[in-house]
This record gives sequence, C-alpha cells and structure tokens, in this order.
Amino acid sequence: MGQPAFARPFHRPQRGAALHCGKVSLESLARRFGTPLYVYSADQIAERSALFQAAFAGREHLLCYAVKANSALAILKLLAGRGAGFDIVSGGELERVLAAAPEAAGRVVFSGVGKTAAEIDLALDAAILAFNVESEAELHLLAERARKHKRRARFALRVNPDVFADTHPYISTGLREHKFGIDIRQAPKIYKNAAANRWLQAFGVSVHIGSQIRSAEPFGAAMERVGKLVAQLAPEGVALEAVDAGGGLGIDYHAPGFDAASKVAEYAAAIESALAGFKGRLLIEPGRFVVAQAGALVTRVLYVKRNGKKTFVITDAAMNDLIRPALYQAHHEIAPVRLRAGQPRPVDVVGPVCESGDFFARDRILAPVRPGDLLALLDAGAYGMAQSSNYNTRPRAAEVLVEGAQARLIRRRETISDLLAPESI
Ligand SMILES: *Cc1c(COP(=O)(O)O)cnc(C)c1O
Repeated sequence: MGQPAFARPFHRPQRGAALHCGKVSLESLARRFGTPLYVYSADQIAERSALFQAAFAGREHLLCYAVKANSALAILKLLAGRGAGFDIVSGGELERVLAAAPEAAGRVVFSGVGKTAAEIDLALDAAILAFNVESEAELHLLAERARKHKRRARFALRVNPDVFADTHPYISTGLREHKFGIDIRQAPKIYKNAAANRWLQAFGVSVHIGSQIRSAEPFGAAMERVGKLVAQLAPEGVALEAVDAGGGLGIDYHAPGFDAASKVAEYAAAIESALAGFKGRLLIEPGRFVVAQAGALVTRVLYVKRNGKKTFVITDAAMNDLIRPALYQAHHEIAPVRLRAGQPRPVDVVGPVCESGDFFARDRILAPVRPGDLLALLDAGAYGMAQSSNYNTRPRAAEVLVEGAQARLIRRRETISDLLAPESI
C-alpha cells in the first residue's frame, strides 16, 4: 500500500506479497486461528504510548489508557508494563485491570456518570488513584462509601468546559447540554463544600471533551478554562495536585500517511501552553490513539453477488464484530490481504447479519475479490472488539497479538456453548 510504517503496522514486505502485521503474514494467521480474526501489533501499541510519554516528559505525568477502547487483558498488561495507568468507566473494567496488572491499581482513575455504590466500593478497596466525579450526588455517595471503608477518597471533579469539539455527535461530550461532567461554573462551590469532609480529598480536576477529535485546538481551549479554575481555587485554600486532560485525540481513518508523532506533539503543545501556569501533575486518558491503528479485523469473503447494479462482497465478519460503520457511519480502509490483478470496481462490503445496517463499506472501489479471499479492515484496534456483541448468536472473533516475529492468541474464538452457558430453559 506504500504507506509509511508510522501510520499502520500493516504492510506488504514486497510487491505481490500478502499483507503482514509487522513480520507476520495475515494469511498464515487466518490459517492458524480462523476468521474473523482481530490482529494487533504490540509494537505499535508500545510506540504510541511512548509518543505521549515523550511529549509530556517535561512535567510529571501519567498516561491513563482508556480501557474501553480495547480492554484485552494482554493489551492492558503490555501497557501497564510500560508504566501506564488506566482510565476505567465500570467496575468490570477495574476487574480487568486487577486481573491483568494488579500492581497498576494505584494508577487507575475512575470516570463515568453512573457509578454504583458497589463499583465505588470495589475501587476504594483497590485503592485507585482517583475518582473522576461527575455530579454532586455522586460526590455525596463517594463520601459516604469512603467513611464506611475508613479510607479517604481522592477525587477530581469532571468539569464540563463548554467547549465544542467537531466530531460525531454521539462521541462529543464537552458541551453544557451533554450528560457528562459538572458545569465548570459550579465547581468552586463544590470543592469548597467538600473540603469540610474528612473522607474526601480534592486531588484534581478532569475534563473529557469527546472522542475522535482531530485538531489540537479544542484541547487547548478546554485546558485554558481548567487552568483558570485551578488558579482561582488555590488562593481559596483548594490546592489541586493534578489536572486530567481526558482522552479523545483522533486518528485519520482515511489518510495512509497519517503522522502520529506530529499529531501527539501538536496535542501536547496545545495542552502545555494552556497549562503553563500549572506546575502540578498531568494525567491524560488516550484510548483510540494508542490502539486503533495497531489493529485490523481479518475476514474471509464468503460470496460475491450482484443485485441489479450493485455488487456485494459478503464477508464472514459482521456488524456484531465491528459496529463502527453502522453506529457512527465510520470509515475503515479495506485492504485485500492478497491483491488480485484487474480493474478495481465499486462494491458494498457487507456481513451476514440480517440488517441492512450490517455493512463495512458502501460503493467502495476495491480490487477484484473472489470467495475465499481475505480482507483486512484497517484501523479496527479501538472500539472494535470492545463493542462487539453476540447478535445473531454469532460467537465473538478470536484475537491475536503480534510482537516482533511472534503471534500469540490472546482470546480464543467463542464457541456456541460459551454463548448458551448462562441461559436456562
Ligand atoms: C472514552 C473516554 C476516553 C478515551 O477516549 P478516546 O477517544 O478513545 O481517546 C477517555 N476518558 C474518558 C472519560 C472517556 O469516556
């Protein structure tokens, strides 16, 4: 595909060769593990996390990887081994972190608008770094649970900076009309009230303005507002030690030459310039940017059929494996694992699920494909497997992690008995 190695780990070692992940051929992986198959490059995940860590090397910082983007235990372990912490949004995600990297519990921040008492208890027991609190009511519940546990809870208010981020409406979160966070104008009063409670420790302030945000500008704008808030609170006796800038940095799903290193540098510059007056600790919560381009969904073509003017390429992967096209009208590049000679033509690439929304691409210009061929849906490492389901009683795909020349199964393919196990007649 002739794209620079820094964009995606998927490439052809020479003309006419099968698509590879690093040093491993996707053809051999499909033979070994079957399809549909998620394939991830451990090397790229490590590289991407290192980009953030290098960009913020000038201050004390912690990368809290957003678990919801891809919660594979092996990926969590890999990131924890590189010093990462985690941003979780449920008790289940905390259990994943504890299973994969118990030593990282103290590097966990807990976000989300609907934490239950049981989830808060679990997190207090695990002695996580901080709770990103999204309402006054949640702060009251946190104080009550902390008192029961006789354990002081560190919290950050997740404030809503009222910043518009140009992304899909379902994943934009930083406006006052969204369900997330606390109006930034209310925050000072809440911090001051909390200071009277011995079970609460004001640790920081957090924001998260949305996902798949391609420009650095809204991150800078949000941080400006947060920086002002921190400066305003200090003389009032609320000394915050950390600012959490959230996640949301987007990738380019179209451009093969996407330059991840300059994107992270721009992002870091916008944040650092807005926070110039703040000397404390910086937390960031990237998810997509770390894992999206490291992953592909490899699928086999079952049928090619023509209906009227349209040609449909029907694959063994479906919307239950990768819902992003159906849910967000998302674009994924599709690369035949082995290129056939011949005229590229417009086709719809669709799955077997009984819904017209079950498509990966419409009117996509694709090189000729035949039944039995393999296709790779690129940039599928984030919000792919994590949002998969068993719709149509389809077992979930297997997952493989490639590191150097080694490939290892990190999640076996589900079986029908896995799916039926929780049910009774
Ligand atoms: C989803 C989410 C993230 C990660 O977002 P990405 O777009 O994947 O970087 C970070 N923080 C919070 C609070 C989130 O909800």
